[in-house]
Amino acid sequence: MSRPLRARVNLDAIRRNYAFARSLGRGHAVAIIKANAYGHGLAVVGEALAGADALGVATIEEALVLRRAGINGRLLVLEGTFDRAALREAVVQRLDIVIHSGYQLEMLAQVPGATRLRLWLKIDTGMGRLGFPWQETEAIVRRLRTLAPAAEITLMTHMACADEPDHDFNSIQLQRFDTAFAGEPLPASIANSAALLALPGARREWNRAGIMLWGVNPRLDGIRHPELRCTMELESALIAVRRIGAGETVGYGCDYHFPAAGRFGIVACGYGDGYPRHAPSGTPILVGGHRTRLVGRVSMDMLAVDLTHLPDAGIGTPVTLWGAALPVAEVAAHAGTIAYELLTGLTERVPRIYEID
Ligand SMILES: *Cc1c(COP(=O)(O)O)cnc(C)c1O
Repeated sequence: MSRPLRARVNLDAIRRNYAFARSLGRGHAVAIIKANAYGHGLAVVGEALAGADALGVATIEEALVLRRAGINGRLLVLEGTFDRAALREAVVQRLDIVIHSGYQLEMLAQVPGATRLRLWLKIDTGMGRLGFPWQETEAIVRRLRTLAPAAEITLMTHMACADEPDHDFNSIQLQRFDTAFAGEPLPASIANSAALLALPGARREWNRAGIMLWGVNPRLDGIRHPELRCTMELESALIAVRRIGAGETVGYGCDYHFPAAGRFGIVACGYGDGYPRHAPSGTPILVGGHRTRLVGRVSMDMLAVDLTHLPDAGIGTPVTLWGAALPVAEVAAHAGTIAYELLTGLTERVPRIYEID
């Protein structure tokens, strides 16, 4: 029998989450499927979302995977291209590219056809990562118009604190963006999932939905969104069951001591699969649909769960590491991280099983 660990991915749930994201904005939605579609599988998810207004990835390599899979629609590369060879590829593949730095702007003049691409000019309004300083927007747009008079330009920025809707910095960034450019209006794009869900003032012609496509509400306060559907069940099973006496330990480092005699099970899933090694004892796990807890350190291929109060659990009992009944964000919070990291960290070893409703 094969190892029981697998990620069941519901493609209809992804499509519904995309439709919901699109319904929130007054315009279009880019489905952001970078980092292997947040662990769900880049090409398959790309095909499932082929009807989207546009797909978005971080890198040119990811864009090429999608083109090779036969996806012909609009495809946005969020980091843009770093050299002429990549820009030539972007021309051949008709990619939408982000221009966030001077070297990318000047490169447009050096590659035939590049100035006819759809260009997304990234303005830094405070995220401090990529983009031209917002105070220079007028000058940069003028330079871009000189280089590429016919290009379709979208002005974009990225929010630093949208997962905290009440954060003061949100309105500061929006105000900077809105005052940065007084010329003939250009289509704009500000919102990621958090902003799209919680900051109506950030919605523009184009919104960029990533984490919400996987049913995760990025709000730091952990509120679940009723319209978002879970897209991945990370499932395994018990492959061993053990009895243990009071004070005995399980796992590397012997740092978990059972307070009383009881039982525990071994689950085929470990950090080599992407389960967080830093998840501490007490992290919730479902065994046979019942909540129990991780005990001891997570190993590369296995982890242990407390079965003391689950007498019916035995070899082969199904285990859910995360899914509809145990949000990945909750597991992430126990491990001191966010759902994004757990989803994107799911390794190649975990078979993805694709389902539709
Ligand atoms: C990843 C990314 C997004 C999507 O963010 P989510 O929080 O996953 O919705 C949007 N815009 C840019 C520039 C990104 O890098």
